[in-house]
Amino acid sequence: MATEGAPPEFKLALDSTAVPQGPEGIGESPFDFTAAPEAMEYQSDAGDDPAIALRRTLGMFTTGVTVITTSAHDEVHGMTANAFMSASLNPPLVLISIDRRAKMCNLLHEGDRYGVSILGEHQTEMSDRFAGRAKEGVPEPAFEIVRDTPLVEGALAHFVARVDRTYYAGDHSLFLGHVEYARHSEGAPLLYHGGQYERLGKAAPVAPELPEGLLPPLLAAGEECSFSDGESIVKLGEVGDQLFVILDGAVILRRPGHPDKQLEAGSYFGEVGALSGEARVSDAIADGAVNCVAVRSDALKSVLASSPEAAWEMLGSLAQRVREA
Ligand code: FAD
Repeated sequence: MATEGAPPEFKLALDSTAVPQGPEGIGESPFDFTAAPEAMEYQSDAGDDPAIALRRTLGMFTTGVTVITTSAHDEVHGMTANAFMSASLNPPLVLISIDRRAKMCNLLHEGDRYGVSILGEHQTEMSDRFAGRAKEGVPEPAFEIVRDTPLVEGALAHFVARVDRTYYAGDHSLFLGHVEYARHSEGAPLLYHGGQYERLGKAAPVAPELPEGLLPPLLAAGEECSFSDGESIVKLGEVGDQLFVILDGAVILRRPGHPDKQLEAGSYFGEVGALSGEARVSDAIADGAVNCVAVRSDALKSVLASSPEAAWEMLGSLAQRVREA
């Protein structure tokens, strides 16, 4: 079955013959269909593969991203899931849908507890890790245990739920959980849409130093990157050709002979290297977790060239920086 174009973690066959044996007792009784299901009708630019058309269409539903956790045999196991929903307020119930081939599906049984950690917008690497595509050098996740259930530290919101019922759902199983614990903090969530991570529109930074017209093309031309607390983003004396726009978090600029300067979300740095190709004039260090968009010199120049008015405004902002330095 063709699955080209689908993100790897969703490369699942959709016809029943490909449904693997579900673990014993986990929603394994197929529904009794009253009539044979009709072939799905679809309209999509994804060619004539109904599975891809279905995935693309489902991908238009924007979700948050969670990590589902449980502990078994004194080990913590986590997996990324966006198929999470609130099911009832009274009694408090939530629902998750887990691929029957996932290790998590084998670990959860009625009566067990699972944790749900709703990720913040800076936690794309955490999501990748628990989807089996961890990058090298990314720190190990830390867990907090609540009601014998692991929860991912640093997430935006947490639930602990006890599996109340399980249901057969084709190549997935549904786990209805009775919520025993819930807490949340302030912050912006990580989103998932069309097979990629997104952030809330309101989280797009207001960049007081950048001309309004310049921000969207710069964000589109750059690449998102994250840094952990204390990590060096730019090194004094090194040649670098990227301008960084801070999306969230704060960055300390350290320049010999000058007091440290803290830049907040919406500010930018690295412009000297990006515009002149010369060595960096200061160190830039992440102050807490930081998300930036890095724009290479050639991309920056082409954005400036296509919007001369915004380029003039940026020149004004740079002149102001020189005056303040
Ligand atoms: P594995 O694939 O064995 O483990 C998952 C990964 O987590 C591995 O890399 C493992 O090393 C790491 N890991 C596990 N425990 C720990 C630990 N204690 N410490 C450090 N690392 C650990 N699938 C679904 O079934 N339902 C969904 O709703 C769903 N939504 C998804 C949403 C997104 C945005 C993405 C990216 C993927 C989604 N997936 C979903 C796919 C699912 O996350 C992957 O298929 C996942 O690999 C299945 O995990 P598993 O239980 O089979 O365990």
